Amino acid sequence: MREATGRWGGVLKREIVESGAPVVIVAPTVTMDPEHPRAEAFAMHAGRLLAVGELDAVRAAVPQGTREVTLDGVVLPGLIDAHMHMQRGGLKALDQFPEGTDVDSYMERMLQTPHDPEWRDGEPTMEDRVEGLRRVQPLLHALGFTGVIDPAVTIDEMRGYQETKRRGALTMRTVAMPYPEIGTPEVPTVDEAITYLTGIGASTGFGDDVLRIGPIKVYYDGEGMKGEALLERPWRDGDDFTGVQRVPTEDFQRLVDFCADNGWGVGVHAVGGKAVAEASAAFARAAERASIDDLRFQLIHAYLEPSEESIRTATAAGVIASLQPSIAWNNLEGLIGRLGDRALGLNPVRSWIDAGARVAFGSDGPFFPFDPRLIVWHSMTRLARGVDAPASPEQAISLQEALAAYTVDAAWASMAEDRRGMLRAGMLADFTVIDVDPATCTAEDFRDATVLRTVVGGETVFQAPGA
Ligand SMILES: [Zn+2]
Repeated sequence: MREATGRWGGVLKREIVESGAPVVIVAPTVTMDPEHPRAEAFAMHAGRLLAVGELDAVRAAVPQGTREVTLDGVVLPGLIDAHMHMQRGGLKALDQFPEGTDVDSYMERMLQTPHDPEWRDGEPTMEDRVEGLRRVQPLLHALGFTGVIDPAVTIDEMRGYQETKRRGALTMRTVAMPYPEIGTPEVPTVDEAITYLTGIGASTGFGDDVLRIGPIKVYYDGEGMKGEALLERPWRDGDDFTGVQRVPTEDFQRLVDFCADNGWGVGVHAVGGKAVAEASAAFARAAERASIDDLRFQLIHAYLEPSEESIRTATAAGVIASLQPSIAWNNLEGLIGRLGDRALGLNPVRSWIDAGARVAFGSDGPFFPFDPRLIVWHSMTRLARGVDAPASPEQAISLQEALAAYTVDAAWASMAEDRRGMLRAGMLADFTVIDVDPATCTAEDFRDATVLRTVVGGETVFQAPGA
């Protein structure tokens, strides 16, 4: 076994390490490219794909004598978690887990202690942040992830990402969403949020393929499990409490208009149907003046009673549905306790896809389960923890659709649709290898699959023991 230090400073286990020369990977490949969905092989060089297709065609595209590596398993584009609080997960990994903890133990403990603080003693230092990221990234690579969108990044977290990148240790492609926390003493209202954003001097899209600034994060309503999501109908029969609105409607519109006019996308936490309706309407009004497509506006969560009309409005405005089936899997039982049968329709992924929306999947990890195999299985079966029957099985989606939400559409949400989420010549060599074929396997097969390898920019960042 050969070890080498990669471009990002990580110690790579062996081979596929580029020595300046192209390499051909021979393995059945799911490209997610609608024009050529399957390939037999691909060639990569300097972190990018040179050719993808039939083996003969790939061989013809590279110099004679190019090294060939045959892999067991099936290659997929690297997965992107479109809603992952990676740095917070890193701090928790550093604070509470011994070095060498494997991903299964980490996920299990995280699921049992979602509300524990990620850092128990004072404020984490910059070293802590960097070390935390060094600790957690390999765990996420072990699940097939090559990219995340961190959906609420404070100034300290932004510095943590930047310093980790500067040291060559950010192996996960990261889109960081700035978070002016409206309602705090520093940012009491939308006006201070606008000042905050203006003061950054950069906006959505700034950065590179390792670290990029995403849309901002703002809260429209409260949390579903706290019974504070803003609904059209009261939470309980017999009273009129419909939830918590965290920004007044007119202020939200003003912030959205400022953002649309100044190069900022907006990702809005909108869980309940009324929050989704009002946020969608605000986005649609901004989109009437000029396209907001490039700014990657997103509805985040949107899982409790979004109306068909809101779904149409948001989709027509080009808004991404950033959905976390993990929350549905985790919370369905509890929400049935609060809402009865109303909860069964939660997270209507099928409705979004049928409306033509771009649906990006994420987990809200590490506070919710973030194993993509579980999330894909849940999305196909609509089975949730602690509940016997599928919830609104008509909202189930196919494996192909679930993979699209983790690849092409999550890449769109990451402003990287021409470089990631698909395996096509010219795109980045980000991929993962699993031991099942998504074209033929069942939901259960996928849930039980083994991730064999994960590669970012042509470099192996995870390799299963013995693979
Ligand atoms: Zn979140």
